[in-house]
Amino acid sequence: MLNLELHTAIEHIREAALSDGSKIGLQLPEGLVADCSAIMDDLSREFPTFRFVILANVVYGACCIDDVAAYALDCSLLLHFGHSELVSSDRLLVPTRYVRVTIDIDTDKLIAAASGLETGSGPVHLLSTAQYLGALPIIAAKLEALGIPAVMPATPGLAPGEILGCTCPVLPPAARCLVICDGRFHVEAIGKAVPDAVVYKFDPFLGRVLREHILPDTDGRVDLVDRTRAAVADRGLGRVGFLLGTLGRQGSVPLLRRLQGLVARRGGVGVTVAMAIMDEDRVRHLADGLDMLVLLSCPRLALDWGQQFEGLGMPVLTANEFYGVLDNGVRDEMRGGYPLRNYDPGCVYTSSW
Ligand code: SF4
Repeated sequence: MLNLELHTAIEHIREAALSDGSKIGLQLPEGLVADCSAIMDDLSREFPTFRFVILANVVYGACCIDDVAAYALDCSLLLHFGHSELVSSDRLLVPTRYVRVTIDIDTDKLIAAASGLETGSGPVHLLSTAQYLGALPIIAAKLEALGIPAVMPATPGLAPGEILGCTCPVLPPAARCLVICDGRFHVEAIGKAVPDAVVYKFDPFLGRVLREHILPDTDGRVDLVDRTRAAVADRGLGRVGFLLGTLGRQGSVPLLRRLQGLVARRGGVGVTVAMAIMDEDRVRHLADGLDMLVLLSCPRLALDWGQQFEGLGMPVLTANEFYGVLDNGVRDEMRGGYPLRNYDPGCVYTSSW
């Protein structure tokens, strides 16, 4: 069952102590856009003196906070539903509060279906997307009762066990993982980060535990880093384009500043390009004036669809790949598992705000 924590939204609105006539922006994940009107009706009944605005730009993830549109529309408060607080309110143009959306799952069914977990050694690493996080401690306790040790590995700044498509907690080699999510996007994040991980997925919609087989597919990215390193050693950095994703707060301005400074210190020229949704044709037009392009947007664009950018005449790199071009340590970290730590504040290439 899906639980929209409207009572939390109501508390946030009360706490904001807004004056009559204030505007409040509502932003929901893609799967909940259809519920926008019902939510707006409920909140309007509770707060008849406020006006509510639906922000319906694309929301791919927790990074897509649309405070810029909320600001342009003169909202006094933005309520962002369904994601963790990746971007703190004090970095945004409009006071922003996060409202959890949780989905109940049948943990007994999950435990009954997880028979494959009884074999193997080491603890089971429990992971999930934001909406199922509440189930993890319950599952951990039930597994422990069966004699199966379970842990919830954490990335600083995220909830224990939380996984994003771009950020996977640090896991040991061959980690046994049980991830609760639907689709393949988050499972593939584990496979990229720990290629020999043994991954089971509980898909709440199917109600089944499936053993996931993930083909490690990041060697080509490391080869691209190596080729770019060789080119830079040969002719210098040249003109480095930074594609700052302007879809919500996907592109981190603090990271852009750090990288611009790094390029200047290394004798290169940094060029900032703002783009909401990456368009191959537009990128192709940029290729003539640049020696490489670094994506300061969702890194999965390059990791999942990087082949589309081959043949542009310039490498298209993620931020950590760019660090890998300049830094032996980061480059070496990529062999044997591709670090997916985009929102880990402990990383040099973090996109944290
Ligand atoms: S950067 Fe990509 S993977 Fe990470 S939260 Fe945003 S949309 Fe999801």
